[in-house]
Amino acid sequence: MSVSESSQIPFLDLVRPHVELEDELVAAFRGALHTAGFVGGSAVEEFERDFAAFCGVRHSVGVASGTDALRFALMGSGVEAGQTVVTVPNTFIATTEAISQAGAQPEFVDVDARTGTMDPAKLRAYLERGCVRDAESGRAVSKRTGGVVSAVVPVHLYGQMADMDPILDLAAQYHFTVVEDACQAHGAEYFSRTAGRWCRAGSMGRAAAFSFYPGKNLGACGEAGAVTTNEDRVAERSRMLRDHGQSKKYFHDIEGYNGRLDAVQARILTIKLRRLAAWNLKRRDNARRYNELFEPIADSVVVPFESLHARAVYHLYVIRIQGRDRLQAQLAQAGIATQIHYPTPLHLQNAYVGLGYRRGDFPVSETLAGEILSLPMYPNLEARHVMRIVQSVGRFMARAVPVAAASTSSGTDPAPVAERL
Ligand SMILES: *Cc1c(COP(=O)(O)O)cnc(C)c1O
Repeated sequence: MSVSESSQIPFLDLVRPHVELEDELVAAFRGALHTAGFVGGSAVEEFERDFAAFCGVRHSVGVASGTDALRFALMGSGVEAGQTVVTVPNTFIATTEAISQAGAQPEFVDVDARTGTMDPAKLRAYLERGCVRDAESGRAVSKRTGGVVSAVVPVHLYGQMADMDPILDLAAQYHFTVVEDACQAHGAEYFSRTAGRWCRAGSMGRAAAFSFYPGKNLGACGEAGAVTTNEDRVAERSRMLRDHGQSKKYFHDIEGYNGRLDAVQARILTIKLRRLAAWNLKRRDNARRYNELFEPIADSVVVPFESLHARAVYHLYVIRIQGRDRLQAQLAQAGIATQIHYPTPLHLQNAYVGLGYRRGDFPVSETLAGEILSLPMYPNLEARHVMRIVQSVGRFMARAVPVAAASTSSGTDPAPVAERL
């Protein structure tokens, strides 16, 4: 084996993009040192302007994390204690933590098998059959919780946009607020048939939340996040919530949080934001490369589905495959790092036993959790590495295919996994 064949392929390369920008990033830190501008101030305002422009919204509010952004977006757009907020089980727990921390109760609807994002048909079924309609307000009241469904949180998972048009139609019909979890989708786009144009992630709901955790498509050198919104009032409330409920210094209209954005991180994010569009294009190139190479084994490897109305930014490149755990172990042996996003759907997590859900409640999410595998994906992932990864998966299939075929009834079912669900 040559050195290059045996070299490790990391899941993520966070070192190179920072080394490439080292001079600029160090200068940003020096700027903060020399002015002692560490929290808030003009550096934060500059980043907020740039990020709002990038997302195509009127306001962005810099906060301390994506979780803070979700919590402030929900509370800032009027979610109150005792209400119900609907999201999907196939997401990171921060989505539901923010809902609970806003005082509301999370409820789930299942995802679309192809995109892994909220299935609008399942949301409609939940509203029609899992709720009763309050005659006066026209809002849905959950039969499970008795709470008014005041908000729905679609998650643009893996950098893939949820199907927003039908979700927004239901929002108008049932008078709930839509808060996008765009923590994995900086720059993803959706063609709204209603608006007749392409819209960026974070510009379609009443508010949206972004995370700038280092591994995200736009990452700080530490923790950071942002709320985006077109509504003055939601922006203003989010600004108050991040800073102890202050309307001005030491005048607290409400109780808030310490959820401010560091000025150092804001300066770093301003520099990195200028590269984001190019980085996202490189991710899309890598996804296309993977897709093309997987073509010959498309009957056993389901590649990410991108609908015609979406342009994904591939925060993660997630395939579906039978024998996932064995493949993951074999890839690890070949020096290829992979991860699973996420191995246990939220309704089956210990933290949510109290919600009373059971296995079988969200079959699509549960099936996905057993079959998904996130392959290495980052802007500077090299073409020869993509080739080596696909070849390794191919080698696994050559061994695994007869086993998988023997376990199905006919052994000749050619339908991809997605269609069999
Ligand atoms: C990363 C992430 C969050 C939370 O962001 P933090 O900055 O880690 O608080 C929320 N939702 C999703 C889908 C995420 O991927």
